[in-house]
Amino acid sequence: MPLPSNQSSPGLLRAPVSGIIVPLSQVPDPVFAANIIGPGIAIDPTGEEIVAPCDGVISQAHPSGHAVGLTTSWGAQILIHVGLDTVKLRGRGFDPLVVLDQKVKEGEPLIRFDADYIATRSKSLLTEMVILNSDQFDGLEVLPGTHTKSGDPLLRVLLKSAEKGSAGTLQPATSARNLALKSEWITIHNATGIHARPAALLAAVAKRYKSKLTLVKGDRSADVRSLIAVMGLEVAQNDQVMIQAHGPDDVDALEALTRELKNLSEDHESPAAVVPMETELKKERKAGDLHFTGITASPGMTAGKIFQLSTQEIEVEEKGESISHETAKLEKAIQVAKVQLEALANGFMGGNDPNRASIFGAHQELLEDPQLLEMAGEEIDRGYSAAFAWKLSYTTLSLQLQNLKNQLLAARANDVRDIGKRVLQILVNGPVPAQEAASQASVTAIFPDNCIVVAEDLTPSDVATLDRTKVLGLCTTTGGATSHVAILARSLDIPALAGVDPEVLHIANGTLVVLDASKGELRLNPNAQELQALEKSQAQHELQKKEDLVHAQEPAKTLDGRRFEIVANLKATSEAANALQMGAEGVGLLRTEFLFMNRTTAPTENEQFEAYQGLARAFGKTRPLIIRTLDVGGDKPLPYLPLPKEDNPFLGERGIRVSLSRPAMFREQLRAILRASSEGDIRIMFPMISSLTELRQAKVILEEERKALGIAPVSVGIMIEVPSAAVMADHLADEADFFSIGSNDLSQYVLAIDRGHPKLAAQADGLDPSILRMIDMAVRAAHSKKKWVGVCGGIAGDPKAIPVLMGLGVDELSVSIPSIPAVKAQIRTLSQKDCEELAHAALEVGTAAEVRSLIENFGRVADKSTAGKTVESKRN
Ligand code: PEP
Ligand code: MG
Repeated sequence: MPLPSNQSSPGLLRAPVSGIIVPLSQVPDPVFAANIIGPGIAIDPTGEEIVAPCDGVISQAHPSGHAVGLTTSWGAQILIHVGLDTVKLRGRGFDPLVVLDQKVKEGEPLIRFDADYIATRSKSLLTEMVILNSDQFDGLEVLPGTHTKSGDPLLRVLLKSAEKGSAGTLQPATSARNLALKSEWITIHNATGIHARPAALLAAVAKRYKSKLTLVKGDRSADVRSLIAVMGLEVAQNDQVMIQAHGPDDVDALEALTRELKNLSEDHESPAAVVPMETELKKERKAGDLHFTGITASPGMTAGKIFQLSTQEIEVEEKGESISHETAKLEKAIQVAKVQLEALANGFMGGNDPNRASIFGAHQELLEDPQLLEMAGEEIDRGYSAAFAWKLSYTTLSLQLQNLKNQLLAARANDVRDIGKRVLQILVNGPVPAQEAASQASVTAIFPDNCIVVAEDLTPSDVATLDRTKVLGLCTTTGGATSHVAILARSLDIPALAGVDPEVLHIANGTLVVLDASKGELRLNPNAQELQALEKSQAQHELQKKEDLVHAQEPAKTLDGRRFEIVANLKATSEAANALQMGAEGVGLLRTEFLFMNRTTAPTENEQFEAYQGLARAFGKTRPLIIRTLDVGGDKPLPYLPLPKEDNPFLGERGIRVSLSRPAMFREQLRAILRASSEGDIRIMFPMISSLTELRQAKVILEEERKALGIAPVSVGIMIEVPSAAVMADHLADEADFFSIGSNDLSQYVLAIDRGHPKLAAQADGLDPSILRMIDMAVRAAHSKKKWVGVCGGIAGDPKAIPVLMGLGVDELSVSIPSIPAVKAQIRTLSQKDCEELAHAALEVGTAAEVRSLIENFGRVADKSTAGKTVESKRN
């Protein structure tokens, strides 16, 4: 029956779709379940059309069609969100029926969707209807019932008493003083969106006012004063944003921020049409498929039983006592957490594990993050308990980070959750003595024997304190090869797979699996034969390892007498002793960026000098120490080195380009290296050289510093990791003393496949003939000028690639420390002549598969990635 005024009833929201009513707290997504977006209700839909729950104006029309926002004449902002994680479908399965600013009547269709398509491709079809500005109302009533029909009364928003009389008429936002003022929707024309600099400008303007100021984009919003939160919105070119202001100086603040936002527009290119992706490059998993793939976070192979580690929710009291009491409680808990982290960091430092120590050092800093502390403080001011305020703040912040496209920043979400949980546990369980806490696993789970831990995500604390006697492997649905968790897993030598299909979370506990992290695979229910073979190969592998170690100090000479230099890839000074013990004949690649990471300022010249000097002394004058100058940018940002946000960071300011554009930092590093050079056989290597001009520029700077210090010349080489360098190798060889092939980057640039791409990883084969031809060009060019060539990328330690690289004529292999004895042992079983024939044939074939089949035929080469076959090869 139509309403007398022909307007829907103020406060009443009707069901937007038919279905089963589900309380919001039961939605398996903390953003909804914890009311982070706002209070409301969910419906498990039986229909396929979303209709307007009341009259209003469309205030959010999400381009992917999975969500729609409606603002009512009585001031409510309503969001209807179809399914969970459906944004990932990028519009597939959805048919949006309304556009921004369109007026709609109650019952009018807003979105049509294909329930079958969405249900089979997303986490859930559960559809949420929430109130985004619930603080403007007295509450929300869910009307009784377990099922609902589209258009049935469902929710009642309780209007504030003063507004009830005037409800039903469209109020100008400015007249309702307890409603936030809103700007118009502003389209951002700036080509790079709201990145760090504009976000900082907005924050600076916002800080001049007292009002609460929010930047809204779609169904997400951020405090304008918080740089992290604003960047977290990832506002891109052509996105629409709005400012909301609420407080004593809201009018002025809104005006100033609107002006600032409009000033941001620099270029005005028209938006390109979005072409929906028709075919996924990655094969979709079929039901019943017993095979999962992922990214290798830490190599190795093992068999074990699945143990699902569901992170337990910590229940907290919502209401707090006095503000001062709750504030003091939180401060104390944070202090206790800092002491625990200090103890953890010291413990790892004492155990000569600076990598792990630095992670917990970084966690201590996170506990001082002003945004996090401010958020928690604001929630306490609103009357919440310290625990509730803290939980809300760290989950919100980590979710913001998690959704960032920048994988490194997104990986920090896990660190925020880690410190968040630590403090929350202290708040709920009371302080635990520091020493006890330091030795305590942050995961309180009791691990069963021989288990493969499966989780959506793990925190660095989880991994650092795992019970290694029981946990054989790790498998997470998120994360990547660059996450802290991956670094820790590698340092613990525990096989780990990341970025696995979330379906893995549904495998029953106790299911027997083979985790082949090296190959990026998890195989379910292996048969007895497969397990036996794995066991046998593991035993053989252990035996072989022991035998190889016995001969680790001997040179690597082929059967026909060709000697290869086997050196180590290092990333910390503390690794020197182990490298020597494993038979390293020097250092082929010192990744100096690790000296610069996990800290808030660059290391001083002296700090660097001491590190390089320490290594030079350890390796002495007869073993080369190749120090690669800073290789950051791309996937390796530094917090104190602001680089512009780029669409293709791997093709932008990276490697030597960063050093050349920041000569002061470059000169400081060169001075530190030069000063240490008299202590050993130090050589300098420049990363990412793509032209002769870059090499010359770098050498001019080096020469200036060398002369100023009055130090003898040092050998200067370059990485060959950009195709242009391989192609121009003859010219580069005139001016460089040596080459080292960076096959990791060379593969990504030759094949145009991002080195960390989760879907294309399998196609990024370092043995592709196109890459081998590039290496061949570089080797020939270098040798014709009497220069030597090494390989320091991942293929240098790959038993399948080694005979080919030897045959191509490289002189040195620089590999990870644990693989040195095995690489030496393998070389001793090969003849150079055979390897040359193999390499020659490999250069002639057309595909990586053909190269691999040549290698198979060449001899049953040890496959270290399957952890365990004995090294066998053609022994005449
Ligand atoms: C490479 O690209 O192969 C290499 C050794 O450098 P990095 O992996 O440090 O980029
Ligand atoms: Mg590289």
